[in-house]
Amino acid sequence: SSSSAPTKPARIIAIANQKGGVGKTTTTINLATAMAATKKKVLIIDLDPQGNASTGLGIDRSARAVNSYHVLIGEAQLAETVLPTDIPGLSLVPSGVDLSGAEIELVEMERREQRLAEALGTIGSYDYVLIDCPPSLNLLTVNALVAAHAVMVPLQCEFFALEGISHLVQTIERVRQALNPELELQGIVLTMFDKRNNLSEMVAADVREFFGDKVYKTVIPRNVRISEAPSHGKPVLIYDVKCTGSEAYIHLASEVLKRERKLKAAG
Ligand code: ADP
Ligand code: MG
Repeated sequence: SSSSAPTKPARIIAIANQKGGVGKTTTTINLATAMAATKKKVLIIDLDPQGNASTGLGIDRSARAVNSYHVLIGEAQLAETVLPTDIPGLSLVPSGVDLSGAEIELVEMERREQRLAEALGTIGSYDYVLIDCPPSLNLLTVNALVAAHAVMVPLQCEFFALEGISHLVQTIERVRQALNPELELQGIVLTMFDKRNNLSEMVAADVREFFGDKVYKTVIPRNVRISEAPSHGKPVLIYDVKCTGSEAYIHLASEVLKRERKLKAAG
């Protein structure tokens, strides 16, 4: 009921695709920034050993000593690892390089797929938690999928886009059947769209035919300001709010929030 205290944050969304460089981290930090701008309390969990979400939000390496790795292996409480960012309403659990070895350590552990879900059960006061997944379908990503209510998939408009996604869809299905029955596909966002390239159009049309209205209307264009922003330690929405990349992420956030409100009303 609405009166009881939530044991989980209102909504946990994993941003996943086992391909690297498709826009997971960019989507995570800009979606989170746009959500925070609408007065939502948002937490990003950086689950990628490369730590691009942490870097992209200007979090110094020295501040990452206690991170998502320690949460997963049970050496830290999630709440102890949360850092503030320069963006009001947006906090981050950083990652660390140790995370690249976590896979091997986790295999030995009990309830190895549920460790993030259990850690998130102790943290209550966020409207949204976005989990930035590594470019693989390993135990880190499985932990994210088990913890999440929904998964959002950034898809780069290139030739093998659909081929790669079938593997991800199977993994989502397996997690739903065995570990997290409420997991759903939140949506697919087409990224790095190049309108001068026919292939982009063709891939986008294929993806829409296959996934229907799971695909967001908003398409993220290839935009140089987006690629510049991380080196300034800022989401593009802060670096240059007027560029076409920022405009697209603002539209995407409003579509996501609309979809989220519908889900909430339904259920
Ligand atoms: P992933 O997290 O899936 O590996 P990233 O979000 O880190 O992907 O994006 C990969 C690289 O491409 C980064 O350098 C990022 O700045 C850049 N990038 C992401 N989206 C765009 C875009 N729409 N236009 C231009 N560059 C982009
Ligand atoms: Mg990334």
